[in-house]
Amino acid sequence: MTMNENSAADEWGVAGQAVGGGEHIRYEKDADGIVVLTLDLPGSANVMNEAYRTAMETAVTRLEAERDDITGVVITSAKKSFFAGADLNELIHVTRDQAEEFFAVVTRVKAQMRRLERLGRPVAAAINGSALGGGLELALACHHRVCLDAPSVRLGLPEVTLGVLPGGGGVTRSMRMMGVQAALPLITEGKRLRPGKALAAGWIDELAESYDELMAKARAWVLAHPDAVQPWDVRGHRVPDLKPLDPESYSLLAAAPAVSYAKTHGCYPAVDAAVACAVEGALLDFDTALEIEGRYLTQLVVGQVAKNLITAFWFQLNEINAGGSRPADQPRLLTRRVGVLGAGMMGAGIAHVSAQAGIEVVLKDVDRAAAERGKSSVAARLDKDVAKGRLTQEARDALLEHIHTAESYDDLAACDLVIEAVFEDRELKNTVTRAAEQAAPPEAVIASNTSTLPITGLAEAVPDPKRFIGLHFFSPVHRMNLVEIIRGEQTSDATLARAFDYVLQIKKTPIVVNDSRGFYTSRTFGTYVTEGVAMIAEGVPAALVENVARKAGMAVGPLAVCDEVTLSLPLKVREQALMDDDGSAAGRIAEHPAYAVLETLVGLGRTGKAARAGFYDYPEDGLKSLWPGLGERWKANAHSDADGATARPDGGLPKASDIAVPEQDVRDRLLYIQALETVRILEEGVLGSAADANLGSIFGIGFAPWTGGTLQFVNAVGAAAFTERADFLADTYGERFRPTALLREMAAKGREFR
Ligand code: NAD
Repeated sequence: MTMNENSAADEWGVAGQAVGGGEHIRYEKDADGIVVLTLDLPGSANVMNEAYRTAMETAVTRLEAERDDITGVVITSAKKSFFAGADLNELIHVTRDQAEEFFAVVTRVKAQMRRLERLGRPVAAAINGSALGGGLELALACHHRVCLDAPSVRLGLPEVTLGVLPGGGGVTRSMRMMGVQAALPLITEGKRLRPGKALAAGWIDELAESYDELMAKARAWVLAHPDAVQPWDVRGHRVPDLKPLDPESYSLLAAAPAVSYAKTHGCYPAVDAAVACAVEGALLDFDTALEIEGRYLTQLVVGQVAKNLITAFWFQLNEINAGGSRPADQPRLLTRRVGVLGAGMMGAGIAHVSAQAGIEVVLKDVDRAAAERGKSSVAARLDKDVAKGRLTQEARDALLEHIHTAESYDDLAACDLVIEAVFEDRELKNTVTRAAEQAAPPEAVIASNTSTLPITGLAEAVPDPKRFIGLHFFSPVHRMNLVEIIRGEQTSDATLARAFDYVLQIKKTPIVVNDSRGFYTSRTFGTYVTEGVAMIAEGVPAALVENVARKAGMAVGPLAVCDEVTLSLPLKVREQALMDDDGSAAGRIAEHPAYAVLETLVGLGRTGKAARAGFYDYPEDGLKSLWPGLGERWKANAHSDADGATARPDGGLPKASDIAVPEQDVRDRLLYIQALETVRILEEGVLGSAADANLGSIFGIGFAPWTGGTLQFVNAVGAAAFTERADFLADTYGERFRPTALLREMAAKGREFR
């Protein structure tokens, strides 16, 4: 989609106002009679705001007036990118009662494109940089597309990833250009393609190696095709893989919504709407299809999920990347050499992503052979990428050259940063960080990747705790986008800045939290797992818990994930919390009904996936399945409804009417408990911003992305409604759902987490 920091003040009203006009799209006619339209809208990128709409109106009107004197048109851009797309600053503010007005604006944009492609003169797009969303849609409204084949260029319709759809003709034109089977995945997955792939997909027609070649090819095409016309404006044209009245091709359309729903569970209205729009549009004439597309877009833009996704994945992600949680007065620092202690699963992963960013890595384990094993595990992963064509052999070799296995601590002498990732053992961590601190330069930052040990305590191992910080990576490191930065009590601003800049350098998202048991992500995730387990104690069928979690948009069901991390982990966390005993938290944890279930299962030897037995059975030769013993053991404790009816006396599968905890409660319990914990963590001052909370929850613990994150979930429900519902859950299922003082205050004042 888009980025335009200058457009916040623009109005999108259909009335439009005088915002510049002609100079934002330069109109230059050459000796051949070709008009080059150069898009140069205010701001760093071209976006579809009112300045664009006004300028395009002027340009198209002039082209129509001067048609007899021109040979054709080439559209290009004066920016680094061709065109960024819709203006998200506009979209986020469109309210339900502005739906008609918004629809009129969309219709106006499409009408301009339609006039361009029906000008009666050839129109070529000279795509000099990335063309995303509305930018690609504009190019699709040209008769021919030439694209600069540069490594940074991407083409795509990523709208659905922000909860909207390509409503500037992108769905309608892509379907008619490439057919249902090719177009639907591109639209519903929002993929961004490199120029070569976009050429193969059929979005563009030609590649160019340089800017001069790009313009020359576009001009040559215009001169050679005076009678250019869009395929859909030729009588009899149809969607390529749809034969009229052929039942087989229509079964393709009939199946598409079901296939999509199976993936989205209705959590992502944009995906379902894009499919519906494509299917309905395929059966209609071109202009009616465009109109339908505009109506679906309008419906999505005024809906809550688009607001959630745009807030989190655009505004808040940008806020984080711009250093929102970084000390502003510290200079930006480049990390050139990083030491990694421990070449196990996490250490090797950290070495991988650091080397990938061009950082020299010194990888140290107990001896060189162990470090070499860590490096080999990186090589093995890269080899798979090479085999799948995702990486060249040269790039693989170059990456591995950045990883140097160490013989001794002396090898850390030139490191700007040392990250410890040895076993989760306080004494061992103290020993290795002390040794590393002595070997590394005096200004080097020392970090720990601990997942559970408080950073302030670990910092005591080094003489200068100001230089110590937590860098909590997630597994698998090369895939997980988040790094949770933990600031110890004495961590200095300079140390935090260095750590923050390093995380951005390795192209991950940093969130910053203060030191506290479980930090933010693990603590919140723990509530999800234990809530799922608590429902087992109440006799809620395990399959219901797991399926409802997935249907709510969670990445993994709470029982499956508990099996992954082992059932003893939450028990250990409880033990630690009780040891810390800071009052409220320990009390909440100690009383939690999940622990009896976990203790029973661990007592039965059902400790999780590694033991091939936990909440699930893991047969050697088949798929995992929920352990039937769960329902037998815990049905008697079930919550009963008014009639006391819960478990079935014949021991058979429960019917919906047998289940005393309604599906809506199961869903809300799993989501609310995490949102409530996040509010508590915010209230305790461990979290500093809504952006960190939201992105941390989505990237770190797989909190349902459609919600926009844990705090945006509260905003979307509304603080007052959320508080009321949480009170109901507390009365029905336990005090852990009781809203905090901050929530009640926000509910009373009608405030949102921003
Ligand atoms: P691991 O067992 O795979 O690797 C630990 C490595 O440390 C081993 O290679 C071991 O040989 C090495 N080691 C032991 N003593 C050493 C010493 N004196 N000097 C140098 N190396 C030494 O463990 P892991 O899963 O990679 O976890 C490492 C750390 O990361 C732990 O603190 C863990 O809590 C944390 N963490 C793990 C995960 C996860 O999902 N596994 C996630 C976040 C954080």
